[in-house]
Amino acid sequence: MKNNNDTICCVVVLIRENIQSVNLQQQVLRTDVSGMPLEWIGYQDAVRLIALEQVSYALGRSLYRIHGGINALSGTQSVIEVNAIIATWGHHPHKILFADSYVPPLSNKALFRRDQSLCLYCGKQFPNFKLSRDHVKPLSQGGKDKWANVVSACKRCNNYKAGRTPEQAGIQLLAIPFSPTHAEYVYLQGRQILADQMDFLLAHFPRNSVLRKRVEQGQDLLA
Ligand SMILES: [Zn+2]
Repeated sequence: MKNNNDTICCVVVLIRENIQSVNLQQQVLRTDVSGMPLEWIGYQDAVRLIALEQVSYALGRSLYRIHGGINALSGTQSVIEVNAIIATWGHHPHKILFADSYVPPLSNKALFRRDQSLCLYCGKQFPNFKLSRDHVKPLSQGGKDKWANVVSACKRCNNYKAGRTPEQAGIQLLAIPFSPTHAEYVYLQGRQILADQMDFLLAHFPRNSVLRKRVEQGQDLLA
């Protein structure tokens, strides 16, 4: 596949005609060349990376086979195969993600997934729109907006707790909040994670990871 925009446009147009029956929502796990998980990408981005020859190797099951243009000389049709996991060139810019000091960005979506859509005060499960980010040590008392100081809480519990610590409010915190590693953060952002992708991610989780235990016990991401 040549490295030019015409080729890529041709491929992307053809995708839409050729894979109607395939689940286009299935995400591809992109790793760096050493196999460190980086992010989830859609099939369009995966095809673009393959066409631009930025993929070093692929792992896992084949998700899509994309048929491209027919070569005028040989009469053969080009085919791009997209696997569940693709390793791309460019290792060094991502090194920071795997330093011990790295902390993934805090978002409500990832936080609610870390806490399995549970209110960590009353223990009930809620849809995302009924959850909120509670600061265990309130901001008004010098608490930080950091993973280790935030939990999912239903709006009722959050309102009741208000500007107090759990001790001051007389309520109990059901789990200790923690900061995910980058690999765990990638997991928290995934949807419809395939078994081979999960195995790959698990290999990069810390040994004592709470999320590892949950996955090994067969608990799903709920949010
Ligand atoms: Zn609650």
